[in-house]
Amino acid sequence: MARSVYIHIPFCKSICSYCDFCKVFYVKKWADRYLEELYNEITDRYEGELIKTLYIGGGSPSQLNEHDLEKLEKIINLFQFTEDYEFTFEANINDLNDIYLTRLKNMKVNRLSIGIESFDEKKLKLMGRDADFDQASKIIKIARSKGFDNINIDMIYGLPNESLNTLKEDVKKVLKLKPDHISFYSLIFEPNTKLFLHYKKGVSQDEEYEMYSYIKRTLSKAGYEHYEISNYAKNGKYAKHNLVYWNNDEYYGFGLGAAGYLHEVRYENTRSISKYLDGNYMYKRELVSIEDEKKNKLMLGLRLTKGVNLNEWFLKYGDNLEADENIQKLIKEKLLKVENNYLFINPKKLYVMNEILIRII
Ligand code: SF4
Repeated sequence: MARSVYIHIPFCKSICSYCDFCKVFYVKKWADRYLEELYNEITDRYEGELIKTLYIGGGSPSQLNEHDLEKLEKIINLFQFTEDYEFTFEANINDLNDIYLTRLKNMKVNRLSIGIESFDEKKLKLMGRDADFDQASKIIKIARSKGFDNINIDMIYGLPNESLNTLKEDVKKVLKLKPDHISFYSLIFEPNTKLFLHYKKGVSQDEEYEMYSYIKRTLSKAGYEHYEISNYAKNGKYAKHNLVYWNNDEYYGFGLGAAGYLHEVRYENTRSISKYLDGNYMYKRELVSIEDEKKNKLMLGLRLTKGVNLNEWFLKYGDNLEADENIQKLIKEKLLKVENNYLFINPKKLYVMNEILIRII
């Protein structure tokens, strides 16, 4: 039973050079029709379960104006929520102000995920983004005064020619903002992005490891728990919605290009805005075999620093994961470890997680 919902708002003001998310420029007429179709899609597919986590992502949901937010609120009112629900709204720092934050609070948003990515001028220019530390500091202060006590900040590292010193400055500044959660992503060069076409790759693997280790060390020292390869939380404020993905639980995905996992079927919506606006939402559906489900559970679970619970695995699938020949090999090579009934990636080897996961499958 799905207890989580992802809603995609694809509109952006400008296009960042590294981005391969599903997005289009904000056009008022499209936004209007899009929100109507979103309403239709959800009334068609939502089965009425109590929802524990709702994540509105994009794109840039904060591109929606007051009129659009009224429509979005009607959509949100379609759902029934549990008392301890988490409702995350993704926003670009430059879109936020006092009025907008009050509006979000009134919509019952209780977690903000703010895209900043860097404070360094060169990095921002390369990414095609804009951010200013003083402005960010002011906005976070306003958000706190409105009662937002769960704020995430997204950051990126590993850009071409980025130095460790530049990264250190970014880490220092993001810590000064005292967010409850920090997502620090190593830049992925996606084909067909402007950045990929110009640079192909960012820093070397050694530099990336040095940066990753610095982030991990410094954030841990500042009281953040490193609980997923790129994610850090203070006071147990984990991203509950993202934990649904990492635990391989089912969830609804609504909107352009959204993916979902329901009744053992993984599906993806169309990325074509014209098809979506015509009500042709679905792009593909795939029944997940038990073997694929196990593979997904392992690959996603190993992203978490605590790893995969071996007892739960045995109860669910009836086999001893630790005894698997491939897993045994990786344990012997000290790439995987087992402790307190959890199988996890050796923390010293997390930076080569992708290579380890490839070897597992
Ligand atoms: S990174 Fe975010 S804001 Fe930038 S183009 Fe992509 S979806 Fe839009």
